[in-house]
Amino acid sequence: MFLLLGEKVRTRSSPVGTHTCAVCKSEQVFSDHGETLWFAVFGLSLFPLEERAHYWRCENCLTAYKPRELEQPSSVPLVKDVVIYLLLGYDQQEQRPLADEICAKVTGFDFPDSEVRDLTRDIASGRLNVAELVRRYASSLNAIGKQQVIEAAFLAAYACCDIQYEDRLRINQIGSALDVGLEFVTYAIDEARRQKNYGIRRLPDIRTEV
Ligand SMILES: [Zn+2]
Repeated sequence: MFLLLGEKVRTRSSPVGTHTCAVCKSEQVFSDHGETLWFAVFGLSLFPLEERAHYWRCENCLTAYKPRELEQPSSVPLVKDVVIYLLLGYDQQEQRPLADEICAKVTGFDFPDSEVRDLTRDIASGRLNVAELVRRYASSLNAIGKQQVIEAAFLAAYACCDIQYEDRLRINQIGSALDVGLEFVTYAIDEARRQKNYGIRRLPDIRTEV
């Protein structure tokens, strides 16, 4: 017997009342969004395989939050992780004001010096695995949040070096951990460039290869 087996993504959305949005800084209507991958036969969903996305969204600014955790958008901790991870990779971990500037410009949220120090220590010691964190928390981000993480990664790399193939590869790998395609990564980088890199300047000792 011929069975047409496959997978299907099912989305759901339901209202969860009004809450204070940390971006709008006011009471807004929120909704709960979910995306689940289902095992399907002949196009009929039989049982769920995995939850691909689950977040709460402010219906005014469309910012995604981890459900019931509305102090900051779900993208903010990942933006911080990725920026510190890249600064460490370029041996620029002393550039703490740069980490704060990138986070503030991309997300609108500060990255205080003490937090930068603590996170740098944890990531440098291997206690926090950034790729694993990005994979684990990607499901609480929507496209806006994923774009912010990639823009922040690009800006950190841009500030530290003249972007070459391997630098772009690092950004692509972050995109892959976020479960987005290369077109999305390219789009996010182009957006950052369109914003004139948010005014982020290159560190003074960067040499430009000719
Ligand atoms: Zn909002």
